[in-house]
Amino acid sequence: MLPFKIVYHPRYDLNLGAHVFPSQKFRLIAEKLVSSGVADECDFLRPEPASDADLMRVHTPSGVHKLKTGTLSASEIMKLEVPYSPELAEAVWLAAGGTILAAQSALRDGFGANLSGGFHHAYANHGEGFCAIHDVAVAVRRLQADGDIKTAMIVDTDVHHGNGTASIFAADASVFTLSIHQENNYPAHKPQSDVDLNMPDGAGNNTYLAALIPTVERCLDNLHPDMMFYVGGADPYEEDQLGGLSLTMEGLKRRDREVFEAARSRGIPVASALAGGYARRVEDTVAIHVNTIIAAREVAEKYPQTKASRSQGAVS
Ligand SMILES: [Zn+2]
Repeated sequence: MLPFKIVYHPRYDLNLGAHVFPSQKFRLIAEKLVSSGVADECDFLRPEPASDADLMRVHTPSGVHKLKTGTLSASEIMKLEVPYSPELAEAVWLAAGGTILAAQSALRDGFGANLSGGFHHAYANHGEGFCAIHDVAVAVRRLQADGDIKTAMIVDTDVHHGNGTASIFAADASVFTLSIHQENNYPAHKPQSDVDLNMPDGAGNNTYLAALIPTVERCLDNLHPDMMFYVGGADPYEEDQLGGLSLTMEGLKRRDREVFEAARSRGIPVASALAGGYARRVEDTVAIHVNTIIAAREVAEKYPQTKASRSQGAVS
């Protein structure tokens, strides 16, 4: 049994058919977590879809309406780069609900993992790059609206720049955005995050981790956010078809563990979402995402308490 919850829904599948985005990966990750003995059935929570009101704290009403009713224009669907279907719409509403639930769990347990989401290319007024709804932004806004958090830091390690995240929170001092990504890669236009770590092609484990980890630690020390949202892309992997940063599987696991350790050693809860992963072998993408959960477990065993549970302990 894990010391935190994993959020999963069988209808996370984006219904893409043959596509570079392996949307069956959500189910494969859930199955692998159980079959490999990392998680038990009782570790899983099943989310409700986010409400339209949740989505509209981030997205325009017309964008939400078009997605819901399947009335996106041909050019809007082209920008999204995935075929529209009612199943896709249902899956992204569930993904947003899942990241909300993972964040609520993280408040209690110190860590919470959504086995979907990380749709960081979605903007307030349009979707793009396989991302229709910005689940992480929806979760940040929901927890802020509920008074659960005031500030958040988003650490985005997907190989592609977090353009939607940067745009949505550009003028918002309560949400700090950090993206580490391959500079010469999609998206062509990269609006500025609070911190952008632009990696050269083929950076490799050492260059990447030497840039990321001290920066995360410094930002956490300066900001003391109420929660970290972790967008844990599998696509910096050396065998990825859409990425070129040449990290190994072990390097990616170290990345996850060291980012989680930076947060948890400071008493900051972490909510994670998946983001991209396009390895030639889908098993590799699945293994990288499973390793994120294993890394979280290792860190949770070392730092079992959050700031909130520590201060509750102090008064009781
Ligand atoms: Zn990506």
